Amino acid sequence: MAEYDYDLITIGAGSGGVRATRLAGGSGRKVAIVESSRVGGTCVMRGCVPKKLLVYGAHFAEDFEDAKGYGWTIEGARHDWPTLIENKQKELERLEGIYNRILRDNNVELLRGRGTVVDAHTVAVDGKTYTAEKILIAVGGWPTMPDIPGIEHAITSNEALDLPELPKRVTIVGGGYIAVEFAGIFAALGAEVTQIIRKDMILRGFDHSMRAGLQEEMEKKGIKILAETTVRSIEKTESGAYNLRFAGGDEHETDLVMYATGRAPSTSGLGLEEAGVKLNDKGAVVVDDYNKTSVDSIYAIGDVTDRVNLTPVALNEGICFFETVFRDNPRKMDYENIASAVFSQPPIGSVGLTEEEARKRGRIKVFLSRFKPMKYTLSGRDERSVMKLLVDAETDRVVGAHMLGVDAPEIVQGIAIALKCGATKAQFDATVGIHPTAAEEFVTMRDPVPEPDAEHTE
Ligand code: NDP
Repeated sequence: MAEYDYDLITIGAGSGGVRATRLAGGSGRKVAIVESSRVGGTCVMRGCVPKKLLVYGAHFAEDFEDAKGYGWTIEGARHDWPTLIENKQKELERLEGIYNRILRDNNVELLRGRGTVVDAHTVAVDGKTYTAEKILIAVGGWPTMPDIPGIEHAITSNEALDLPELPKRVTIVGGGYIAVEFAGIFAALGAEVTQIIRKDMILRGFDHSMRAGLQEEMEKKGIKILAETTVRSIEKTESGAYNLRFAGGDEHETDLVMYATGRAPSTSGLGLEEAGVKLNDKGAVVVDDYNKTSVDSIYAIGDVTDRVNLTPVALNEGICFFETVFRDNPRKMDYENIASAVFSQPPIGSVGLTEEEARKRGRIKVFLSRFKPMKYTLSGRDERSVMKLLVDAETDRVVGAHMLGVDAPEIVQGIAIALKCGATKAQFDATVGIHPTAAEEFVTMRDPVPEPDAEHTE
């Protein structure tokens, strides 16, 4: 062991990298982590956490309106964007402090600077080299934007989280998680939001009923969704606004253009290929079931491997890496039934197969419920929740559960445990509901949707 400076050097102090490295450090290994930006990575500094704080902040707008039906008079409610951003910033500083403390407490040395791989056992950090028995690549991903004229005028979610003020008109390009989440935030806080999607519907890959239901609710909230629209160019106008030109020739003026058109693994310039590490055609690091790359001493976890790009997955991959490499306990991540959420307004919670995927695998029964949440009866809000269970007709196993509506992510987390345990519809039916809740709908859906009327099969 003495022939290397460290047992492990990790490049990238995001969720996955920190988890794996602090476990190794805490178990007595000599470890270091390289980070050029803020400790905490995308999720904590530029993604999930600040985004969710903005979602909370934005939702008060509807809560104030809904309160009226319950007898409240709320006068002079006004939102101050800089206060929200400043308080969010303070919270991120607090979290960064916690992450730094976790590293210190577990004897992880923080090497500040940009790390590159020199060879199978050597990492360079801003010109200085260090050797390690194992190297872990956990550098995550970065937003990508199409190369069109004027794209330099557009921002990504990175900048959207730190805008000095909320523009009057915001245009978001893209139809994925990030686009719908930010459309909801900006619209609730009072901006006129236009969302431009290149296909007919948002959130490709999600269950059709959730996609259609959310698109409808977003439009009800005043978000203008321009479907089947492609932006060809962006120009800055004399007034300081931006003019978008579409493929069909139409134009659209806005005060802010945000692109949320996907993310790519941050492997460029890392020296991986030169060191013999295989990348796929999207630039993601290719790994085996145990997170090992094509070089025996180099491993990779998280978004840089472009498997399932979610923080809890990176954390689990980090734990699997630690168990396999440092505890002689080979452990693979199980990618079945990973629940996820979209923090749109209303949000989506989802686990297992979509109806489209389930139908491809065999005969299924579809249980569907649409209802107005109880909270909105007195407030008069016209918002519908949608719940769906997909059941394998042969085995009675629930293979998918989806919900659009208030608290969907919180509810589906519990349902995910049932799916992980292989629960059947009969077991869902035998579960006594908690009344009155929206969640009880998941255990009271008795009649499948009649086949001819079954939801979209694509
Ligand atoms: P996604 O991959 O989810 O969505 C990208 C969107 O951009 C799609 O709607 C896609 O359209 C569209 N698009 C791609 N290229 C172009 C283009 N050239 N012109 C116009 N539209 C384009 O990416 P996001 O950026 O939203 O999110 C990145 C990742 O971050 C997600 O995959 C997810 O893993 C993670 N994430 C998770 C969250 C959560 O768990 N709540 C929240 C935010 C992010 P089309 O469908 O037509 O291909």
